[in-house]
Amino acid sequence: MKTRVVLILAVIVLTVFPGCVYQTGSKHTGFTYIMDQVRAGADDRPSQRSTSTAAPGKRESTALQIPRVDKTVYLTFDDGPDITNTPMVLNILDNYGVKATFFVVGTNIEKNPEIFKDTVKRGHAIGNHTYNHKYNDVYSGTGGFMESIKTNEELIFRYTGQRPRIVRDPGGEARNNGSLKRVLAQNGYWLVDWNVDSHDSRKPSPEGAEIVENIRWQMMNKNLWPGVVILMHDGAGHLNSVRALPTVIEMLQNQGFKFEVLK
Ligand SMILES: [Zn+2]
Repeated sequence: MKTRVVLILAVIVLTVFPGCVYQTGSKHTGFTYIMDQVRAGADDRPSQRSTSTAAPGKRESTALQIPRVDKTVYLTFDDGPDITNTPMVLNILDNYGVKATFFVVGTNIEKNPEIFKDTVKRGHAIGNHTYNHKYNDVYSGTGGFMESIKTNEELIFRYTGQRPRIVRDPGGEARNNGSLKRVLAQNGYWLVDWNVDSHDSRKPSPEGAEIVENIRWQMMNKNLWPGVVILMHDGAGHLNSVRALPTVIEMLQNQGFKFEVLK
C-alpha cells in the first residue's frame, strides 16, 4: 500500500513538474547526462553513430550517441558567432591545435557571416542552435521549433554548403519534451547534450578562474572520460569564457585528453 502511495505521488510530481530537473543548464549534471545516454542506448539507437545513414521518420530517439573513446573531450561553444568573442576563441583554439564544435544561432550568422565562414574554414564543426534563440518562437510548438531549426539550417547551408544534423536546443528545453524530440528525430536530427557545464551562462557572469574551476571539478568524474562534452559559450557577453579558455585547454591537455568534434 505504501509503495503504491509513493508511486502515485511520484507520477503526480513528474506530471506537474516535468521540466524541473532540466530547468537550467546549471542543474544539468553529469549524472543526468549519463542517464540520457543510458536511455538512448536502451531504445532504437544504433550502437555506432550513424547520423548520415539514419532514415528520417523511422526513429523517435534523438540523443546523439557520443563515441566512447577514452580521454576524449568535445569542446562546444553555443550562441555565436559573435563579433568580439568568436575570433578570439578561434585564435586560441588554433594556438593549441584544438578543434571544437560551434552551435550557432541564425541571427548571429546574419550579423557575422565572415566570422562564421572563418569558423568552418579553420576546421571546426557546426551544429544548429535555432534561428533566433528566442524561447517564444523556438518553443511555440513543434511547428515553430522545426521552422527555427530549418531556417537556421538554410543559413548554415548558404555560407558553408553543410546541413548539420546535430542540434542543441536553447536552454535544454527539448530534451524533456516528447513531441519536440519526436519531430527532431523524424526529420533526421540528433540532439546534443553536454555532461560538463562550465556554468559560464550564469548571471552574473562568473570570472574566468571560476569557469576553469567549474570544469575542473566536474572532470574528476572518470565515468565521463570516454566522451566529455563541455558546454561553453562564445556569444555576446561571454568574454570571461574566452579568458578561461587557454587554461581550460592546458589543464585538459596536461591530463592527456585529446579534443575531437561532434558531427
Ligand atoms: Zn544558447
